[in-house]
Amino acid sequence: MRADLHTHSSLSDGTDTPAELVTKAAAAGLDVVALTDHDTYAGLAEAERSAAAVGLGFVPGIEISCRYEGVSVHLLGYGARPHPVLDGELARARASRGDRLPAMLDRLAALDMPLTEAEVRRWVGDSPSPGRPHIADAMVARGYVGTRDEAFRDWLGEGRPAYVDRYAIDLPAAVGMVLAAGGAPVLAHPWARQSRLVLSAAVLTDLAAQGLVGIEVDHPDHDAATRAELRRLADALGLLPTGSSDYHGLGKTNNDLGCETTAPEVLAALRARIGQEGPC
Ligand code: AMP
Ligand code: FE
Ligand code: FE
Ligand code: ZN
Repeated sequence: MRADLHTHSSLSDGTDTPAELVTKAAAAGLDVVALTDHDTYAGLAEAERSAAAVGLGFVPGIEISCRYEGVSVHLLGYGARPHPVLDGELARARASRGDRLPAMLDRLAALDMPLTEAEVRRWVGDSPSPGRPHIADAMVARGYVGTRDEAFRDWLGEGRPAYVDRYAIDLPAAVGMVLAAGGAPVLAHPWARQSRLVLSAAVLTDLAAQGLVGIEVDHPDHDAATRAELRRLADALGLLPTGSSDYHGLGKTNNDLGCETTAPEVLAALRARIGQEGPC
């Protein structure tokens, strides 16, 4: 039983449609996949239909852009149902992504890298969740940079010259909202990059007391020592230790579907939490 519980489609900043993603997940030998697009459920219906058609298990999810002590952190929510508070906050986050786009294009123009909003919108496509990766793609197409990675490193990353802030939900509030919506909140890559600076063991302990269900332990951005420490912490706090690729199609290297997976007993516990019983 191989389960990959964190992936992105073209409905956020991945490059595969939900149907393509599901087909590739089956071809990669996965038994279960979750779709967790940034701040939107828009791809879930298509992914669920496609998974049923190919006999793949499916877990509906989302990756919510949050903030904790001024730092950007990500919360996965599995099995959340429609809920006015969470849905309202997600709509606000998506609107803020749209508002940020022209502001970042102004910065880039001032840096002699003009892009039209229409040009970036071609990369956004059907996604209701425009993000910096789409700006990066437009920069690559114009030849301003070679890769998404380079665009983030030099221009779009936090603190870089074209960076503009946007609205993000406060992390503890988001945990509460996912729970209120009947979902299971799981902290995404808690000790990757800058999130490690604010998500201390003490903070994880507080979040566990507030109902956090799990933490992503096996993630491409965590090294072996980090994983060992997070696994110990999960065990001590009664949190489910998940493992996932954070697949983005061509949008991220080093994140092949199924390169990290979640143990069957962890998957079963997570599915029980969201009322998804059954073999797969
Ligand atoms: P945004 O959603 O606009 O805040 O952009 C953040 C997203 O960009 C993250 O969810 C990542 O998927 C992606 N990202 C962050 N850093 C990089 C990078 N160095 N290369 C490619 N994608 C990145
Ligand atoms: Fe992403
Ligand atoms: Fe993330
Ligand atoms: Zn992700």
